[in-house]
Amino acid sequence: MYAYAVDPGGEYITPEESRRRHPEGKRGFYVNFTNRCPCACTFCLRSLKRMPAEHSLWLAEEPSVPEVEAALADLPWPLASELVFCGFGEPTTRLDVLTDLLRWTRREHPGIPTRLNTNGLSDLIHGRDTAPDFAGLLDTVSISLNAATPERYLALTRSRFGIGSFEAMLRFAQACRDYVPNVVLTVVDQVGDAAEIEACRQIAESCGLKLRVRRYESH
Ligand code: SF4
Repeated sequence: MYAYAVDPGGEYITPEESRRRHPEGKRGFYVNFTNRCPCACTFCLRSLKRMPAEHSLWLAEEPSVPEVEAALADLPWPLASELVFCGFGEPTTRLDVLTDLLRWTRREHPGIPTRLNTNGLSDLIHGRDTAPDFAGLLDTVSISLNAATPERYLALTRSRFGIGSFEAMLRFAQACRDYVPNVVLTVVDQVGDAAEIEACRQIAESCGLKLRVRRYESH
């Protein structure tokens, strides 16, 4: 599925199925266009979640921009509260595709808030500062902080960029403040204990950012 919804029970379903099950009320819709990621997080749902084939977020091939736009055009937009670029992979591995789709969303549905869920490693993926790419395109960027130290971060994410990943992620998060109105760092509730979550809160505060403790799910 290139576009999907998450049922209250956590099941990934097509937007049409979501509309059939819940014809009233707003909900977020999600965009899935790559399975690539430079991390292999110990808690990643890509390796843990079981999905029926018809609702799978595993992609046989990466879709083109027009293919994803066609899926987005079919969304039941009156039911949409937000469009979230997330999926079963790291969206910024296809940065140009991501920004093209954000531009399409701004043009076709300017009233819909947009969010990117990311591991925050796009500067390392592309070897340059990437936060400016999001200027005027995103309402919220939600970045996985995951841990309070570079060592613990690397142990959890197993990033292929190694021990410098943590600092690069924090630099990206701080750079985003100049381009995205709402920048949020996140930790997963079941991954850290109370002391680690408190340490993460202090890191977020020191960067002038909010921390959200989120439910266990893929970034
Ligand atoms: S949780 Fe996110 S960052 Fe970690 S491996 Fe999975 S897709 Fe990549």
